[in-house]
Parts: sequence; structure tokens; C-alpha cells
Amino acid sequence: MSESHKPPISPRAPTHPPPSSSSIDAALPPTIIKGIAGSPGVAVGPALVVGDVHNAYIRRRIHTAQIPDELARIKVAVSKAQEALREVNSRLAGAHDQRQILEAYLMMMADPLLHEQIEKRVRDDKLCAEWAVASAAEEISGRFPTTSDTDAYIRERKHDVEFVADRLLRALTGAPDRLIPKLDQPSIVVARDLSPADTAGMVREPALGFVTEVGTRTSHTSIMARALEIPAVVGADGVLGYVRTGDTVIVDGLRGEITVHPTETQIADATSRAARHLAFAKGLLEKRDLPCTTACGTRISLKANVELPAEATLALAHGAEGIGLYRTEFLYIDRATPPTEEEQYEVYRAIVQTVAPRPVVLRTFDIGGDKFASSFQLPAEMNPALGLRAVRLALSRPEVFLAQLRAMVRASAHGDVRIMVPMIASVDEMRQVRVLLDKAIHDVDFKGQQRAEKIALGMMIEVPSAAVMADMFVREADFFSIGTNDLVQYALAVDRTSRSLAYLASPIHPSILRLLKTVAKAAAAGNIPVAVCGAVASDVLAAPLLVGLGLRELSMEAAAIPEVKAAIGRVTIAQCEAIAARALEAETVEGVEAMLEKELGVLLHDLRSGTGE
Ligand code: PEP
Ligand code: MG
Repeated sequence: MSESHKPPISPRAPTHPPPSSSSIDAALPPTIIKGIAGSPGVAVGPALVVGDVHNAYIRRRIHTAQIPDELARIKVAVSKAQEALREVNSRLAGAHDQRQILEAYLMMMADPLLHEQIEKRVRDDKLCAEWAVASAAEEISGRFPTTSDTDAYIRERKHDVEFVADRLLRALTGAPDRLIPKLDQPSIVVARDLSPADTAGMVREPALGFVTEVGTRTSHTSIMARALEIPAVVGADGVLGYVRTGDTVIVDGLRGEITVHPTETQIADATSRAARHLAFAKGLLEKRDLPCTTACGTRISLKANVELPAEATLALAHGAEGIGLYRTEFLYIDRATPPTEEEQYEVYRAIVQTVAPRPVVLRTFDIGGDKFASSFQLPAEMNPALGLRAVRLALSRPEVFLAQLRAMVRASAHGDVRIMVPMIASVDEMRQVRVLLDKAIHDVDFKGQQRAEKIALGMMIEVPSAAVMADMFVREADFFSIGTNDLVQYALAVDRTSRSLAYLASPIHPSILRLLKTVAKAAAAGNIPVAVCGAVASDVLAAPLLVGLGLRELSMEAAAIPEVKAAIGRVTIAQCEAIAARALEAETVEGVEAMLEKELGVLLHDLRSGTGE
């Protein structure tokens, strides 16, 4: 992006007045906000708003005598924020576009219009520095019209103003860049976004549920919430405008909605829905030790996706036949250096031993894209999802990758370990990985350490090129696992974290179904196993369709296994194949949806509602 696209603040058109900062103070009537059902379940509790400096400061009125002090605080904050940006800028040697953006932000921080607006609020309205900054930024960004057809330029300028205000507020409040604080009571965590580190931290915190303004069903915050069995609503656009810390909130992760300031009746209804959901889930769980078979007796293998070692036990408790995907990148987050080989070995060994004799698929780290890891100094990229991510990053840091591979090889001494590589796009990447794996095996043998004799090396099929060339990849990989979350992102060109484009990102888009069919056929012809481990595998309506496309192994968050097992138990292979044949002929997602609804809607209704009704 060139600098000419980034002028200082000069809004084009005045619009409706911006919401006043203080208009939210009074008690509000119940408000229902629609979002995306990120993780099932219903929770009621007090909100804890985190990570949002715009709502976290105290609104103070000041005396005339305090005006100079507040203006001085603003001056210091501006130079602190500028200094922080300059520091980032200096680390971006060579990254021309990013530097230009940062320089534009620096200019914006010195923009006379912004300063005039802030100063006016301190002098005339006697607002404290934080309040003045937030309200000036609100006013300026409110002048940029936002309608559904607002062009990208205006949306970006609005975002720039918000970004600058955010930096200034952080400098004023001393807020860290990230933060779920220790929860002193069970709370519903409400944030603009939650990083994988935040959600992973919730294992230790009594979080009742969570709500984010951004995110989709396949973004990492949703995946973690489902793994932790915490109800979540994501993509709840604008929710931070309604919720303050301490407000009572209902999170309905079945319907995908949040109620702020609920009435007694709404609370009673939510509590009863929560109880019915739990009772229904418990009933399904009773069949956990029975194998998953279709109504005509074909075996389908259901495995679990896990992010944290502790989930291995949870996976077995839900009837998983093994771990189909262990996302090892969670070992790398929230720390300054990558985990050592020894550290990783201990974690992998523990999981493998917990799950043995069932198999465990250890996926090598998938860092980059929406999975940020502080232990890597990743370059700032305009399109991180298309950048140095997953196997690309691994191959660019062979010493870090080798340490992981050696840890995995050593863990194979304790059970059925299979290694899987994410984001393979070309045959030569797979070959390079195999060379490194051979080296890791050689290192382990050289040290006289134990390992399994044969260790399968598989790959994720999540880049369209790999799906299209699946017939060739069967010669390179010992097994396939289809990652529909990324396959959808890359095949349909839709950012998986984008709330506004979520409507386009469907795993049952006819193009995705064709790719799935291609991969299933290639795997069968090449005689290698193939699974689906993207979020679509946990969708009760889509699971029979996947079976009909020829897939016999599905890996999903553990909590979804019982309902998917129940769904598959109600259909025959002939029915699934008929559904798949019709889906492959559909032209649109709506066409596939309507057909699935017609064929399976009534049959699976109780499983989809989450409450058995
Ligand atoms: C996927 O992309 O579908 C997948 C399972 O991997 P992840 O969600 O970790 O990217
Ligand atoms: Mg993926």
C-alpha cells in the first residue's frame, strides 16, 4: 500500500453524530446481539471486558486546575506511542510497505485536527485525557460514513483512526498489549479478539463463556472454545458498545447470540436451555464406547483434534478412537523461545501414552497466518495467511524443525505415532520434509534413543494445489488429512478470520465438495488412508455427506464426537452416496444446503438443536 493511500485524518463527508462515550452509562434494557455460534452450550454470568482499552478506562471529569496536567499526560502519551511505532519501524528494515503504513500512523498521531479535538475536550468539556482521546477519535471516525457498501478506502481510514486512538490509550493507561487477567470469579470474557494464548490460558481460569467481536466458526478462538467445552459466540459485531465489565450476560453458543442485561425470564430460560443441553449431551455420551457405524454397518472412524495435552483424556472420555490432529503450535505460543526437544518429547510422550494403543497424529507446527507465536520473530506481511506459515516457516528454520521432528520420533517409542505436515503446496516441500525426518531419525539412532521402527509421514491437504495433485501426492505421503478450514480459505479466497466474509466461506461450496471427492478418489486409488480434520467434520448435517464422498475417517473436537456418531448411525452408505451425488451436481452452497435440509433436516433435528428438541 503506498503512502498516497494514507493521508492524515481528513474525513470526506459528515454523517450522523457518533455515539457519545457517556451514552452507555445508564442501565440498558435487554439487548440481543447476533453473532456466530462458535462453541455450543449456554452460560449466564457477569461480563469481564478484556483487551479493549476503549472500554477499560475510567471516565473522569476534571477540574479547571487539572487541565494542564491532563494536556501534559496526552503529550507524553503521544511521544510514547510514537516512540513505540518508531521502534517497530526500525525493526522492519526492508519491509517497504509496512514502513510506509507506520509512517502514516506517525503522521496521524501528530495530526492537528486530532490534537485540536482532544484539547477541546479537555479544556471545554473537562474530560480526563483517556476520555478525551477516545471521544475525539470516535467523533472523527464517526464522520466516515459506514454503510454496507462503504468502500474499502473509507473503512481503512476509519480503522487507521481507531488504531491510532488505541495506541494513545494504551500509552495513557499503561495497558499491556495482551491480557486475560486472573479471573477472580467465574466470568464471561468479552473481547474484540482473543489470541490463542488467551484462550489456552482459559484452561486455568474459571471462564464461563466467551464473546468476541471478530472471528468465525473456524477461527482459532472458536476451535479452542469447543475444545475446552466453553460456550462461545464469535463475530458479534459491535458487542463492546453494549457490554461493560460486571454486566450480566447470556452467551448462547447454540443459537449464536448474546443477551446483555437480560430479564429474569430470559435468565430462567437460558438456565433451562443450558441444563437441557447438558442433559442431552450426557445422554449421547452414554454410547461413547460403541463403535461408529452407519445404519448399514460400515465402520467410520471418529478421532479427536486436540490443542492442549490435557485434552487427550477428554478425547477418550468422548469416545475418540485416537487423536487425528494434535496442533503442536500451542506449545510455541506465549513464550520467548521455542520449546526444547526435551520439553516437546515429554509432552508428546505423555499424550501418546495416554492414548495408546490408539494412534496419535502429531502435526508439525503450523505457525504464522492467524496462528501467531511469540517465539518466532515473524516478518510483518501484508497477507500473513499467504506468507511464511506452517511448513514454509519450518523449512526456513531447519534447526527448530529438526528439534520438533526428533521429539516426535522419540515419542514413537511409546505408541502409535504418525507425523503430519501442514500447508503442503508442492511435491518438493514434502520431499524436503522427508529428508529432514530421515535426518531426525538418524540423530535419534546415533544417540541410541528408542523409537518405533516405522513412522508414517502424512500431509494435510489444505492448499488447493495439493488437492488437485492428490494423485501425485499419494506417492509422497503415507496418509492424507484434509484441512477444510484452510482449504476453504485458499480455494474460495476468503480470510478464515473475516466475520464479514464468513457467509462466503462454506465447506459445502460445490467447489470444495469436488476437491474432497478428488482427494478421496486419489487416496483410494493410491491405497493410502484419508481423513477430514477441518471443522466441517463436526457438522452433523455435513458428516453423512462426507461419508458419501468416500471418506471413512473424521477428526473433530472431542465434544462433537457423540453427536456425529449418532448422526452417522441413522444413515446408510447408499443414502450418503445419493446425497453426495446430488450435492456434487449443485451449483451453489444454497442448493447443497437446501438438499441436505430436505434429506436430513428432520432426521437429525434433535442433534442440531443441541438440546434434543
Ligand atoms: C484446517 O485447516 O482445516 C485444519 C484442520 O487445520 P487448522 O485449523 O489448525 O489450520
Ligand atoms: Mg489448517
